[in-house]
Order: sequence, then C-alpha cells, then structure tokens
Amino acid sequence: MPDVAAEAARRRTFAIISHPDAGKTTLTEKLLLFGGAIQMAGSVKGRKAARHATSDWMKLEQERGISVTSSVMQFPYEGRVVNLLDTPGHADFGEDTYRVLTAVDSALMVIDVAKGVEERTIKLMEVCRMRDTPIMTFINKLDREGREPIELLDEVESVLGIQCAPVTWPIGMGKRLKGVVHLITGEVHLYEQGRNFTRQDSTIFPSIDDPGLEARIGADMLAGLRDELELVQGASHAFDAQEYLAGRQTPVFFGSAVNNFGVQPLLDFFVRHAPPPQPRATTDRVVAPAEPKLTGFVFKIQANMDPQHRDRVAFMRVCSGRFEAGMKTFHVRTGKDMKLANALTFMASDREIAAEAYPGDVIGIHNHGTISIGDTFTEGEQFAFTGIPNFAPELFRRARLRDPLRLKQLQKGLAQLSEEGATQFFRPLMSNDLILGAVGVLQFDVAAYRLKAEYGVDAIFEPVGVVTTRWVHCDSERKLEEFREKNATNLGIDAAGELVYLAPTRVNLQLAQERWPDVRFDATREQA
Ligand code: GDP
Repeated sequence: MPDVAAEAARRRTFAIISHPDAGKTTLTEKLLLFGGAIQMAGSVKGRKAARHATSDWMKLEQERGISVTSSVMQFPYEGRVVNLLDTPGHADFGEDTYRVLTAVDSALMVIDVAKGVEERTIKLMEVCRMRDTPIMTFINKLDREGREPIELLDEVESVLGIQCAPVTWPIGMGKRLKGVVHLITGEVHLYEQGRNFTRQDSTIFPSIDDPGLEARIGADMLAGLRDELELVQGASHAFDAQEYLAGRQTPVFFGSAVNNFGVQPLLDFFVRHAPPPQPRATTDRVVAPAEPKLTGFVFKIQANMDPQHRDRVAFMRVCSGRFEAGMKTFHVRTGKDMKLANALTFMASDREIAAEAYPGDVIGIHNHGTISIGDTFTEGEQFAFTGIPNFAPELFRRARLRDPLRLKQLQKGLAQLSEEGATQFFRPLMSNDLILGAVGVLQFDVAAYRLKAEYGVDAIFEPVGVVTTRWVHCDSERKLEEFREKNATNLGIDAAGELVYLAPTRVNLQLAQERWPDVRFDATREQA
C-alpha cells in the first residue's frame, strides 16, 4: 500500500500566470517536453490558437477532448510528480483563473523582458496575494532586446510588492545573449540556438572562472559580467526558502522559452523548492494532506463534454488521502454517497481512467449536473473546504428567444452553462425574465453560440436594467421575510436557488443597504 504522506510530498501542483503573449503557452510546452510528455506539445499549441478569435475559440472548444486534457497536465520529473493546471487565456475569464489558483500550491509568473510588469500580471498577482501563494518568476524572451535586468527586478519589487531573489542571471541579451549564470551553483549555461534541450546537449561551465568561458564569450564580456554580478549581489536579495514559501520573495530566472533556454534550471529549482500540497481550511477543521482518508473540492466544471449525453466533468483537487477508482465517497452538499467509478486522471500522455490519485492531483468526475463548483467530497465527514468564491458578475443581459416554444430548453441551457461558473443565471421573483450575468462581454457571445450548438436554442441577449447583484442573508427569518415582501421587484434567485438582490442602480443598492441594516448584502457567494 503506497504511503499517502510520501506520495503527497512528491507532488508539485502549480499554475502559470502571465499577461497574454508573455510566453505562457510556449513555456508550458517546454516544461512538458522536459517532463517527457512530448505528445502533448501539439495540443497545447492547438488550444492556443483559440484565443485569437471568438469563432476559433468556439470551434476549438467543440473539440472538448483537447481542452480537457490540457486543463490539467501531469508529468514525472526527477522523482517528483508535477501537476500543471492551465489557467484560461482570455482576459474575460478572470473568475475561472481565480478558482484554478485556489487549487494550486504555487504559481509561476512569466514576464516579457521587453514589456516588464503588465496589467494582467498585476491582477493575477493580487489574486495570489490573497492566499500568500508562493511564486517563481521567469523573465522570458532574452533572445530579443529588452529592458535592463536590474530595472526589471526593481519594477517587480515596486509594482508587485514582492522581494526578488535572482537565481539565474543573463549574460547579454538579444543578439549578444551568451548564456545565464546560476547564482547558487555558480554554473554557467551557454546559449546556443537550436540546442539546450537537455543537460547533455548544453554547454555548461562549472563557474565563471573556468578558462573555457573566456574563450567562448570574450574577455570584455567576462569582465563586464564580473562587475555586473558584484553589483547584483550587492543590490538584490539572496534566495531564502522561508520567505519564498511565505509569498514574500520570488526567485527570478531569465531565459528564452521558445529556445528552451533557461528552462531547465527553472524546472530543476522548481521541483526542489516549490511547496508540496499544503494543509487546507474547511468549515470544521484544517485538513492535512497526509491524512489517510480522501478529501477534495471541485474548482472547475466543464459542461457537455459529449453533447449527446449532456454530461459534465467536475475537476476535483485531492486534498488528503488516496483516491482509488470505483471508491465510494460522500458528497457533502447533497449528503449523498457517490461512487467515483470512471473518474479521469490527467497524465500528460493522454487522458485515461484514474487508477489512483494523491494529494495535489486532480481527477475528473463525470456527472449529470449533480456536482457544483466548490463542492467537497470526503469519506463521510461533514465539512466543506472554504475559500472558493463565486463573484458577483458585472454585466447583465436578458435572454430573448427567437422561438418562444423553446423556453424550457433555454432555461435548461442557461442553468447548465452557468454550472461551469463563467456566467451566472438569475430569475427575478416577479417576472419571467431569464437574466444572465457575466464578468466579460465575450461570454454572452459564447453563451449564445453554445445555446445554439448544444441546446438547439436561438437566443439573443439584450440590455436589462441590472447593474450589480448581491447575495442576501439575514439572521432573522422574520426580517428576511419582511425584506422579501418590500423588495420583491428587485429580488431573484440564482441557479443554486439562493436569494439575490438585483440592483437597478448603485444608488438603489446603497439605499437598500442603509434601510435594511440587519440584512447582509454579499458581493461573493462563498460556496459550501
Ligand atoms: P502566451 O499568450 O503567454 O501563452 O504566449 P505564447 O507562448 O503564445 O507566446 C507569445 C508569442 O511570443 C509567440 O509568438 C511565441 O512564439 C513568442 N515567444 C515565446 N517565447 C519566446 C522567446 O523566448 N523569445 C521570442 N523571441 N519569442 C517568444
């Protein structure tokens, strides 16, 4: 019987975050190649094309298999098991990204050497902050001219508010790029176009004092490098594992993903220092990964993997214990036992039936809509993992049917698509409207397209007088009843049956809050 604690300790579960075009997809591909999962490279690239145009995205999303296998990629490396969770590329999908980040133990931030810290990087960093997620940084595209490395570190420190500890340092840049120096081991990795794929394939000198190095990069460059290293060591921080794990310091690497360069030092350092699965808070107690019983939570749902069967795959992050194919689990929200018969694991080679999984791993559970985002699974214990919020959407549209006879289908479609979490579906108490809320405009196009493709419903989305929503709670039943009566025209229920205030204006919301001090108006619905 494998030991849960030992298996958990081998896991490294992380996500890559970046501003679009910094090189996330390319780096993902290279990491998979180093991990021996060569066959995945094509799918990652294929999926990537999706971001450029809405229509492409939809066509590609129809090939469900691809997006599922690349949602979670697992590969072995140096005795460890690496789980790389994909974050959606499109800026509209911030909420999905947020949830993926609740399921990882650390993150890798990619920055374009010419562009530095960009807007999306800042947002994603804020999200990591909320849970003190440890972050490593890869400064990419060193084969092109970019900004001064020292200046970039300053920018990361001041804009993102995190201390930088360079682990590798570039020798030159653009056409003059000669290699990187590993500041901890002292090794010098030379940059040779078309190589660097494996250690054996790379030229590595044990230190900058190696006589061979001068012959390769020239005396002037070497002298310049020595000066620069002195400056860097004086001006920056040394790597401190505790500070990194606390989310206060980020180790920084330089390289060029497209040229495989600088990726191996990053991966080697990552599997060594990135945190294994961490304890997780629940409504009841903290769960440690080494506990023998299986627990986990669902952070993502993908609907209609197979439109013929209306099935969905729920992605569950294992938090403790051991998952075994066919085992019986307890679905806490419904209070029912659920047998996980044909769950999927995500080995990079291909998707396959899960034989077993350990803390840090992700399994995919087929279901017909019984599982929601945020759901907890245990072996019988009654608690729920916390911290997987549902955000109030920021844009609202009313769904209008071209063919009124398809109303039932429309309702079903909107409800099921909302289970994936990118959109939210509301029904006002006093009207027959069907209102969809989203965090980005693109999602209305996606919803219209999918309603047609998957539910045979021709719907359009038109403006509606709602600016924001709040989940409504009140400790007193009587007060809540009174509130319901007086505000019925502004109330609705969400897809999960929760009471929601649909505010026609911000001022209206403010007034309602002032008039009803006993009622709580929550901007997020914490899923339990
Ligand atoms: P993503 O949007 O963050 O996933 O970025 P991609 O990985 O798709 O990369 C965006 C563009 O930058 C693509 O055209 C890549 O080929 C290119 N790119 C990625 N890494 C490098 C690099 O190291 N050097 C150069 N010159 N281009 C790169």
